[in-house]
Amino acid sequence: MDSEITFLENQIASIDAYMRDRQADGNFDGESAMFLVVYRNLEERLYGLRLQAAEEKDAEEKMQYRPQTQVLFETTTDKLRAFLSAGSAVFTLESKKTDRHFTYRINSKPNNRGEGYIYFCSVMTGGADKYSYMAVYDPENLSLVFTQKSNFSVKNESVRALLYFFDGLKAGKIPDDLNVYHAGRCGKCGKELTDPESIKLGVGPICRNGGT
Ligand SMILES: [Zn+2]
Repeated sequence: MDSEITFLENQIASIDAYMRDRQADGNFDGESAMFLVVYRNLEERLYGLRLQAAEEKDAEEKMQYRPQTQVLFETTTDKLRAFLSAGSAVFTLESKKTDRHFTYRINSKPNNRGEGYIYFCSVMTGGADKYSYMAVYDPENLSLVFTQKSNFSVKNESVRALLYFFDGLKAGKIPDDLNVYHAGRCGKCGKELTDPESIKLGVGPICRNGGT
């Protein structure tokens, strides 16, 4: 969007310069009137885009909340992948470089077109337990599938951060510049985790062994 804004600004500036030249020559005719219409249209579009950009920035700022409990994972990428598709996973990604962070939730529901599950990924927006739907999570390919109901795309910082994390997992590691936390609750049943092993893994003992 930034490049579109710059493009419009440049167009508007060149029309403006052209019109000033014509006016200086005492030339205001049908062509000038047409340019004026184009000029106003461009200005209107630019205004809309700037507003949208500001709203998006505001929305990303609202995502800078995090759950009260934050526990660093101490586990392998395979077990992290298992956590992500456990059914009720809440986790936070934090950039070590910028301190910016986003909290995500991946819930599963039985797939009504046969067996298996479908996974819905949301991101925390504006306070604890308030999430916005982001995309369908594909655990096989570690990717996101954006559906019609989603207002998110790769232009969102929160989406890019998550895809960056997934790319790391695909390569078998957590990216060096990322901290990955869970919220101190079991990724499957949501119960508070107490024993040290479970706290490292983000999943409780019963759920680890296939229980519910
Ligand atoms: Zn559990």
